[in-house]
Amino acid sequence: MFEQLTNTVRPLLHGQRALVTGGNSGIGRGVALSLAAAGADIVVNYVSNPEGAECVVQAIRQLGRKALAVRADVANEADVDAMFAEAVAELGTLDIVVANAGMQRDAKIESMSLGDWQRVIDVNLTGQFLCARAAVREFKRRGVVESVSRAAGKLVHISSVHEVIPWAGHINYAASKGGVMMLMKTLAQELAQDRIRVNSVCPGAIKTPINRSAWETPEALQGLLRLIPQRRLGEPDDIGRTVAWLVSDEADYITGLNLYVDGGMTLYPGFEAGG
Ligand code: BGC
Repeated sequence: MFEQLTNTVRPLLHGQRALVTGGNSGIGRGVALSLAAAGADIVVNYVSNPEGAECVVQAIRQLGRKALAVRADVANEADVDAMFAEAVAELGTLDIVVANAGMQRDAKIESMSLGDWQRVIDVNLTGQFLCARAAVREFKRRGVVESVSRAAGKLVHISSVHEVIPWAGHINYAASKGGVMMLMKTLAQELAQDRIRVNSVCPGAIKTPINRSAWETPEALQGLLRLIPQRRLGEPDDIGRTVAWLVSDEADYITGLNLYVDGGMTLYPGFEAGG
């Protein structure tokens, strides 16, 4: 009886197809693996480090899902459109797009070059616009297929706690993430009647290469943990499992949400013992 029951339970994302930008490392890798574990076939986007992308592809195939790696600079319109065309040609369509690719180029304002300002805005904000546009075109072309999902498509923007927490020395990054918040909310409003769900996941300090200097020495780690009420660093998997749930029909009535996954970092930890 129990066996019969488990045999009929479908994985959360059974039969769905997803594209994850920057899926070759860090949070993107965690998201790609979690979506695959939940039953989705995956396009793993990368711009550098093709070996990383190939590793993720192999891991996904071992889970019994289809996977392919596609190189594209998300800041480049032609690259993005070609990547979506390839994804649709290979997988048939896309049900889920996770705009994750992002970068930091940190400096105090007086020494930040226009190039470093522009590249971070181009990748973190314009890149999310370009991927959202390509995703929405495909979601609208295909529409709702009830046997796959109640939605015509699910778009997840990976933002950051720094869409609301100001971050001295990171003006380009914080400005890009503040932009992602309004990009996401405006799109959610614009697309709700088309049954396209748009949400963001806002990670706190997740242990990945982007913030290595903040956790690799005991002193740095101690300072960082003071900013996290749960007193632990997040893992890519913390973000991956959240995204897998958010894009599933379990969350079908959720759109326009910025979901902080941060161990409490946005709770003003300085006030734990002050105020
Ligand atoms: C940044 C990390 C940082 C974290 C918490 C993220 O968005 O990319 O470098 O550790 O926010 O401050």
